[in-house]
Amino acid sequence: MLDVPRPPSRTPGPPLVRGVRSLGEREVCPRLLQCRASHAPRRRHPQPRRRGRLMLARWEPGAAGDQRGCRGGRAIADLPGDQGMSGRFDRQSFLGADSEELLAGLRVAIVGYGGGGSHFGQQLAHIGVGEILVFDDDIVEETNLNRLVGGVSADVAAITPKVTVADRVISGVNPAARVRQFGCKWSEAAEELAGAHVVLGAVDSFAERLNLERFCRRFLLPYIDIGMDVIQRSEGYEIVGQVILSSPEHQCLRCMGLINDAVLEKEERARQYGDAGSKPQVIWPNGVLASTAVGLLIQLITPWQPLPAAAVHLEYNGNTSTLQPAPRLAYMLEHGHGCSHYPRDEVGDALFGAPLF
Ligand SMILES: [Zn+2]
Ligand SMILES: [Zn+2]
Repeated sequence: MLDVPRPPSRTPGPPLVRGVRSLGEREVCPRLLQCRASHAPRRRHPQPRRRGRLMLARWEPGAAGDQRGCRGGRAIADLPGDQGMSGRFDRQSFLGADSEELLAGLRVAIVGYGGGGSHFGQQLAHIGVGEILVFDDDIVEETNLNRLVGGVSADVAAITPKVTVADRVISGVNPAARVRQFGCKWSEAAEELAGAHVVLGAVDSFAERLNLERFCRRFLLPYIDIGMDVIQRSEGYEIVGQVILSSPEHQCLRCMGLINDAVLEKEERARQYGDAGSKPQVIWPNGVLASTAVGLLIQLITPWQPLPAAAVHLEYNGNTSTLQPAPRLAYMLEHGHGCSHYPRDEVGDALFGAPLF
């Protein structure tokens, strides 16, 4: 279970974790919380949503107005040997005239820096995300090197924390990015996590996914989840995986059927018998899933695609090399079925701390 502060009551009030912006301020990020009129009646949102990317300037006072994406006191233009950097983002200018500033002002959390999360770090660095929070309490081991992007042999002997690999990769690509390393459980740095704009999760278990999603719902953070598994069938191996966007007020992991009580109980039994440890993992499905997840993130942040989805569940089949929309969420969207697991009046504090299963 989490050991983040448990809310004392269901009465509305200021966030229990300090440093979290209010619900009102969350709405400065319109594309993150945008309602898709196609599946939800407008009246479900009692307060008018402010739209338009101009509002993004309020995310980070000063950041959006900084033409060079200056973060942490260092501007890209000030860095030594910088002559070739002015055109760094030229080839992605189609993302929007102000996309460079939007991304430079963005604070993304990566939870779990392993086979999946390390792709996140690499891509966020290249695309120009200004602040990246990395949560992982593990060190680099030999068995990670088949898939840990940026992990090198010397890290094993040096007992390098995975968050250090993240910093090396990200800072190496984009010295202007601010990388913040949290070599602990994310629940031990919950205040920091709550201050992110978006959370990318590549964690090991369903229970952890559920905990993360609940946390994100509480703080009105979009949560993007990836995961893969290898299943042994009588006829051979099957690689499966998922990419999910779980946005506040929209369909959740339970809605989508990724998580249910049976899944959690089975996982818990496996954990108790000690056979949950060394699940098969390979690099390419993680790459497919993480890349797709970054695509969803960029759709939320930049205006290049007019109508980003608020709820996404893509199912990966590594045997056919396909990603398909999951039928269950498609059905819910088509029929206007919203989430009943995180009632609106519990957003902010009440749900958090309730029993998991
Ligand atoms: Zn909606
Ligand atoms: Zn739900």
